[in-house]
Amino acid sequence: MAGKISPETVKAVSEYTDIVALIGEYTRLEKRSGDWWGCCPFHHEKTPSFYVQPAKKMYYCFGCHEGGGRCHFL
Ligand SMILES: [Zn+2]
Repeated sequence: MAGKISPETVKAVSEYTDIVALIGEYTRLEKRSGDWWGCCPFHHEKTPSFYVQPAKKMYYCFGCHEGGGRCHFL
């Protein structure tokens, strides 16, 4: 998925305030103690190991170690 999005979209992502809603279009997220968890959009998995921290606009996957913040996503 990474690298297939146009620079225009990446720019839009960096200005996007609701990262949860954005990532929610790619995978289902559930709120758990302040953070959001879901199945990773970068690799296939059955148990959620992908987490999103809206306050810092960052995400990280404990399964494939894909992660980043702001402009980095997608
Ligand atoms: Zn992953």
